[in-house]
Formats: sequence, structure tokens, C-alpha cells
Amino acid sequence: MKILAIDIGGTAIKYGITDENFNVCEFYEIPSEAKLGRDHLMLKVLSIVGTYYGGVDCVGISTAGQVNSEEGRIIFANESIPHYTGTEIKKMITEKYDIPVVVENDVNSAATAEAMFGSGKGSNDFLCLTYGTGVGGAVWLGGKLYTGHDFSAGEFGHIVTHTGGLRCNCGNNGCYEMYASTSALVRMVREGTGKELTGREIFEPQNFHNTAIRAIIDNWIDEIVGGLSTLIFIFNPAVIILGGGIMNEDYIISEIDKRIHSKDIKKPCSKIAQECSERHILPRKISISCRKTKKHFRTRAFPFLLCARNGRCSRGIFQ
Ligand SMILES: [Zn+2]
Repeated sequence: MKILAIDIGGTAIKYGITDENFNVCEFYEIPSEAKLGRDHLMLKVLSIVGTYYGGVDCVGISTAGQVNSEEGRIIFANESIPHYTGTEIKKMITEKYDIPVVVENDVNSAATAEAMFGSGKGSNDFLCLTYGTGVGGAVWLGGKLYTGHDFSAGEFGHIVTHTGGLRCNCGNNGCYEMYASTSALVRMVREGTGKELTGREIFEPQNFHNTAIRAIIDNWIDEIVGGLSTLIFIFNPAVIILGGGIMNEDYIISEIDKRIHSKDIKKPCSKIAQECSERHILPRKISISCRKTKKHFRTRAFPFLLCARNGRCSRGIFQ
């Protein structure tokens, strides 16, 4: 059996082919050019499916946005992909090609991958959070993905951590992602130092060792930890898996781990792990390696491959 897996993001569309054991045979990445809108994006996706149609047995799609995974439809997406809300991805593909298609939110897909191969393996209850433009989340409870009543569980970015705080694009004020996302860090550095730096540039030595910037980073990590400690009390997860490009920075993960396990938080019952499918996590000791190697690509390929094997998504396809 061969699976075509496609990951639709605001920056890139990544896609690949795996066999039934999830060995990645091919992997590609093209710009999504999301700003050109939904129609342009879906033309690209349909073109990819068309290229492989006849040579694969099913299509698994992981995508940005809130997803009704039973219908393969985007319930809500922000303006990073204009007009993406309402897109019936599964229907658009199956109207043109006679092939099984499953669609799942990207963080949910990542959680599934972590459960099967990564830092969530062996844990019945864990959380995934990704830090980027916003903060995404996924909840793995009782050995399976928990999506909630209406597929929106795990929107941790919109927990209010600062009542009456900054306006968020969800319409509320003081949301977690306004203070703990990579975008928030970039904003705080700009406001605090006047420097326009990307998340990656902030951690380059000349900036990272700048006293003012380091203070901002440390405050930002406190924001991250504040949200995580709330989640620990709600979910009592065995592991919290942190992803997003910024989490490649060893300093962040080690500081989060240290602060979560500090005496200030009375019930530090969770391990903090970096998003990755090939690492060993020990209590209070975090292995950081593979995202900087080529295996990174293989790892990132897994999530959307794996959404096809997730219990919920597999309905009617693999059974
Ligand atoms: Zn919000």
C-alpha cells in the first residue's frame, strides 16, 4: 500500500509518499503562496494528487486551520490563507479523483505522529503545543485524539492569560498566544529594543547575549510556562510536547523544563519534550538532536502521513 501525504501550511505545501510501514519513499516541498488565496492553493493540492493518482491507495492531508475531520472540511482558518474557511478539501479531491481522502488539523496530526513514533509513545495522556505565529495545540487523552464537541479542542493559544490584555485575532483580549507565541517574542523585542529581528535572529549569539534581549526572552519563557502550568493542572498529562521552529533552541526547552519543575509549581507532574519522533525522553532530562539533522524532514513528514492511520480519520478507509 502507498499513501500520498500532503501537509498544507501558510508557507509551504509538503508532500510525500510512504509505504504501509510509513517509510518515506519520496518527499517534496513547494511554496504554498497562501496569500494568493484558497483557489490557488487548492489547484496546487489537486495537481499533486493528480500527479500520483493511480500509484497511491489513499491520501492523508494535514492542514492549518480548524478541521471537521469527518467531512474533511475547514471549519475556520485565519487570514494567513485567505478564504480558506469553509473549504471542502475532501469533497474537492474526491469529486475529481476516485480515492479515499482523510483530512486532519496539522497539530492533531503531529500529536498522532508523536503518539506512534515520538515523545508521546507509551503515554495515554499528553499534550502537544506548537509555537509560531500563534500557539496551536492538540490533546491526546485515553490513548486517542480528543477533538471536543465541535473539533476545536486544544486551541490553547486562546486561553486568556492576561484579562483585558492585547487584542487577539479571535476577537478576545489577553489570549495566551499574544504573549507566548514566536510572533509575541518578535514584537516584544521590537518594542523593547527597537530591533526588527526574526525569531531565529533573536537567538543568534550577538542578540542572544545582549542583556536587554535576554531579559525579554526570559520574560517570554515565563509567559510560556504560565500557560503550560495551567494546562498541567487541567489535564495532568504525562508529557507535554513542544513544537514550532523556535523550539529548536535548546535554551528555551531547558528553561521551560527547569521552571516547570521549580518549587513554584506545586505539582510538576509532566515531562517537557521537544517535538520529534525520534528521541528518548527521560524525566527531567531532555534529548535534543534530531530536528537539526536530515531526519527532521522525515519526522515532519510523519504527521500528515499518520493522520491517515489515526483512529478517527481512518473511518471507512482502512477498516
Ligand atoms: Zn485569541
